[in-house]
Amino acid sequence: MPGCAILGAQWGDEGKGKIVDLLARRAHMVVRFQGGANAGHTIHHRGKVLVLHQVPSGILRPGCVNLVANGCVLDPILLVDEILALRGLGVQVEPSNLGISERAHVVTPLHRHLDSLSGSTIGTTGRGIGPCYTDKARRVGIRMESLAQGNLLPQWERLLEYHASALDAVDPSAISNLRAAGDSLQRAASFLAPFIRDIRHELHRADSDDRNILLEGAQGALLDLDHGTYPFVTSSNTTIGGAYTGTGVHLRIQHRIAVLKAYTTRVGNGPFPTELHGSIGQRLRRVGNEYGATTGRPRRCGWLDLPILTESAMANGFTAMALTKLDCLTGMDPIRVATGRTPSGDPSYQDLAGWTADISTARAISQLPSRCRAYLNFLERHTEIPISILSLGPARDQTLLQEPPW
Ligand code: GDP
Repeated sequence: MPGCAILGAQWGDEGKGKIVDLLARRAHMVVRFQGGANAGHTIHHRGKVLVLHQVPSGILRPGCVNLVANGCVLDPILLVDEILALRGLGVQVEPSNLGISERAHVVTPLHRHLDSLSGSTIGTTGRGIGPCYTDKARRVGIRMESLAQGNLLPQWERLLEYHASALDAVDPSAISNLRAAGDSLQRAASFLAPFIRDIRHELHRADSDDRNILLEGAQGALLDLDHGTYPFVTSSNTTIGGAYTGTGVHLRIQHRIAVLKAYTTRVGNGPFPTELHGSIGQRLRRVGNEYGATTGRPRRCGWLDLPILTESAMANGFTAMALTKLDCLTGMDPIRVATGRTPSGDPSYQDLAGWTADISTARAISQLPSRCRAYLNFLERHTEIPISILSLGPARDQTLLQEPPW
């Protein structure tokens, strides 16, 4: 079976976690290829709400192998907590079902500290992701291999030395305070060492053996470091190119699914052409519970914007859409969709008739109100991308799978 990438088509928080969890049911592998603990994928599991930050969303599926690839940056201390929390819920997390690339970079307490000092207006999550990727590009970063090889502490000392003069100028006690974190890093290293390996070969073998490989994107296309709304972007490539460099394996990714929320949200600053500042935006935030899974920050809300989907489709070559949170539009009339831009660059809208009936319990397209079906037809016609998955609520069974990849 060919590979399938699940990619955010907007500014993240589209509901990718739920879609990955659903498709992981028949996946042999789920692979994260970029980002780190700045992602927060929410999954409903046995009546509990789980937010996964660094562990791939296939972890809840017995028999599924979960890989964190080289394009990711990992905070070992938080990762140990996440693994222990999952085990506490009865979820199996062992080297047999979780593998970490030796080439992924380590987010240290120093990186988190640097993030907290940055006073950024970009809207970072403060998890040290940007500073870690910066050190990777400066070629002074620490890779996960040093956790497995037992030489983490000398590398940690070297990194502290590298940043010492700049940090001393701001806060003379910072370096000595941070040095104390060496013990926690070392403890995390001992715990994680069995999970760390060169994952490329197992990934390549799985592809050659026609296994179902699911690539789990984090954030969204408009946050891509190169192709997003720079500088209000994340520090990694969230589009399909990131899946190739971020795994180091030329996988056959024949399905590229756009996860698209039926409206638009954005966290932090940056352009947002269809943003709603009044009561409609507040309503979307309330009904859609639009508060960050990692930071709790309220998300900015606005109408669905098809021109930005066209941009992300150009980068990703989407083969299908997973449309999420359609239930949150129930009761809104009209429902506006931006379909273009005026000569002055403002969004131009088309109004569609709304519906009032509860759609969250529908189990077939035919059970949806005719106006809701008209809305779906409109989106498919306009984007020329088929909607293969329709999400009508947070739970697994609130999903209509039209044409899943497997
Ligand atoms: P991700 O980072 O793309 O996985 O998105 P998040 O997990 O941050 O945000 C998605 C939120 O929406 C989570 O709380 C999900 O449980 C919830 N969610 C996902 N799909 C739907 C849906 O179709 N309807 C509603 N009402 N909530 C959904």
